[in-house]
Amino acid sequence: MSTTEVLIVGAGAFGLSISAHLRGLGVDHVIAGRPMDTWRAHVPVGMLMKSEPYGSAIASPQRGYDVAAYCRLRRLDYVKRLGPLTLDRFLGYADWYTEQLVPDVRDITAAHLDAADGGFRVAFADAEPVTVRQVVIATGVLPYAHIPAELSGLASDLVTHTSDHHHLDRFQGRRVAVIGAGQSALETAALLHEQGTDVRIIARTPALHFTEPNPAELGPFGHIKRPVTNLCEGWHCAFWYTPAAFRRLPEGMRITKARTVLGPSGSWWLRKRIEGVVDVLTGHQVRKAVPDGNGVQLLVEGPEQSVLTVDHVIAGTGYRIDLARLPFLPERLRARITTINGYPEVSRVGESSVPGLYFAGAPTAVSIGPSARFIAGTHTISAKLAEAVARRSKAVPGRAAA
Ligand SMILES: Cc1cc2nc3c(=O)[nH]c(=O)nc-3n(C[C@H](O)[C@H](O)[C@H](O)COP(=O)(O)OP(=O)(O)OC[C@H]3O[C@@H](n4cnc5c(N)ncnc54)[C@H](O)[C@@H]3O)c2cc1C
Repeated sequence: MSTTEVLIVGAGAFGLSISAHLRGLGVDHVIAGRPMDTWRAHVPVGMLMKSEPYGSAIASPQRGYDVAAYCRLRRLDYVKRLGPLTLDRFLGYADWYTEQLVPDVRDITAAHLDAADGGFRVAFADAEPVTVRQVVIATGVLPYAHIPAELSGLASDLVTHTSDHHHLDRFQGRRVAVIGAGQSALETAALLHEQGTDVRIIARTPALHFTEPNPAELGPFGHIKRPVTNLCEGWHCAFWYTPAAFRRLPEGMRITKARTVLGPSGSWWLRKRIEGVVDVLTGHQVRKAVPDGNGVQLLVEGPEQSVLTVDHVIAGTGYRIDLARLPFLPERLRARITTINGYPEVSRVGESSVPGLYFAGAPTAVSIGPSARFIAGTHTISAKLAEAVARRSKAVPGRAAA
């Protein structure tokens, strides 16, 4: 069995960025996962980025690896703000970033992780096991896809989650209900409508919300009135983008804000593709769903009750962080990880209550802040986490998990 200092599980924005930083620091590590698989297989074809082009850059140890640099190099059009950046352009950028900074990523799947001999032993579905001193779990939100109880009893040909779809063409000419009011629900509904699906959005909120576009340009004092962060713009954003400030909030507020800052809402550019275009039932909730012929009958409750029959339901109902849903994390190790409302509690460098076991990305949002839910969060954590890992790698062995 081979031994290495660090394993990063997951090759999305966070895993790649942390690997690039560890490489920069000369720390021996393995990064496991198919690069940017979430974006390649679990978001809809034709999607546009919610983050600004400048805010879609993955943090790197040296300057010059942002979307602007990629576009300059490849002679592609680039606008810094109000993009919106297409999925294809973002993936082109991420592939270039990976080739340049994370060339040795391994397309393998972690299957079992356990504490062993002052570190961890990791088994893979498709590679030899390794022992490591430190592990970074950067597996994104897909393991936590949430389908509400009233829909979860339906068969998978009748109900799916937004993250189950890359191609939506199987729904052409069919009747689909999309549940939810966040970006994924609204963008999926817009794309379905535009390809000829008879689509209806059902949302609990009394009204749909859309973000306001940022100004096309900032004047001389613009950056003072409206500080620009990779996460968003304005003084409140500067706060949400600063983990040290966020960590000072009371726990109850952190739990709420981790989830609700910058959501649920649609991007400004979705408004004209939804309002007055797609059928929307706001202030309504699905109470019951039963198979009906080849489709589904939905009992929908709001100011009045109605019954809706569709061929398929897509739940755009987001993600609920719950470590019990990580298939590779056994109960005995999980029990040692302190959690807050299901989220692992992590230090300012991403370390959990199990020494040497780190988390990155959305599951750390209650400790690090809402930036952890976005690519912007790579700028607030990757360098710090990599430095902490590098320090530990030089420290005396033994202060670790088992
Ligand atoms: C539809 C949609 C649109 C979004 N738009 C934006 C946007 O415009 N801007 C923005 O900043 N954020 C956006 N986000 C949020 C986005 O998911 C995150 O910003 C970013 O992808 C988080 O990176 P990550 O590394 O945490 O997770 P991911 O990118 O999901 O990467 C996690 C990786 O871990 C891998 N993995 C999981 N389990 C294992 C295992 N056992 N072994 C090996 N690998 C494993 C997965 O295959 C995946 O590739 C969007 C999310 C969705 C769903």
